[in-house]
Amino acid sequence: MIQICEVNKYYGKTKVLNDINMHIKEGEIFGIIGHSGAGKSTLLRCINRLETYEDGSITVQGREVKNLDERELRFLRKDLGMIFQHFSLLERKTVFENVALPLECFKYSKNEINKRVDELLSLVGIQGKKNMKPRNLSGGQKQRVAIARALALNPKVLLCDEATSALDPNTTKSILGLLQDINKKLNITIIMVTHQMEVIKQICSRVAIMENGEVLEIGDTEELFLQN
Ligand code: ADP
Ligand code: ADP
Repeated sequence: MIQICEVNKYYGKTKVLNDINMHIKEGEIFGIIGHSGAGKSTLLRCINRLETYEDGSITVQGREVKNLDERELRFLRKDLGMIFQHFSLLERKTVFENVALPLECFKYSKNEINKRVDELLSLVGIQGKKNMKPRNLSGGQKQRVAIARALALNPKVLLCDEATSALDPNTTKSILGLLQDINKKLNITIIMVTHQMEVIKQICSRVAIMENGEVLEIGDTEELFLQN
């Protein structure tokens, strides 16, 4: 699904990604764990080309993302939904409007949008919150809205950047449960960037450990973390 080969990236003179190699398989939940500053977010943002990289290659379904033009980039990002630690919802818009946004960008009709948003809100379990503003929702509810928005265009992959780091332990569990359901039901590949070991242990089948811009280890979660 996603192949990362010998990727290097600098911010100015600082090397923030150093010879990164990773293969994310279709249908898996893949974790990337490491301390703050390890380069996890940067790597994730290289995959959907929110960042560029100097050398190496990243392919999504066989296509090098570095070479895409504007139009191709729009379709790449359609295939790669993304969620964030602080949800990134538009505060002045309702839940409905937040989830409808990507559909409007892709020129769905009003009827299609209404139907699709309803489906998405019931998938993530917040049908009743449609007309509310994000500020009136709990953290877990906000992340559900963000997940609904990220799924709106039927992505093949969900990129999760510290998606549970702003949530309490119980809410974290319920969001991880939802992501697991989405992975199974919709066969969406998930990449979980996190500094929380619990997240990796709970839902990731494989994991890469990053430090100082490098991959230290990569393998099955069981083998790396669960043996002892
Ligand atoms: P992580 O997600 O693992 O916390 P990041 O990818 O956010 O790590 O950051 C990796 C390194 O790159 C850090 O040293 C950070 O300070 C630096 N960095 C991140 N974004 C920028 C930027 N836009 N400009 C300069 N340096 C950055
Ligand atoms: P129509 O164009 O058929 O009149 P609308 O777009 O007005 O349909 O809305 C149909 C349904 O979609 C409404 O009952 C409402 O629940 C929902 N809806 C539409 N727009 C919004 C919105 N901005 N916020 C919340 N719900 C909306």
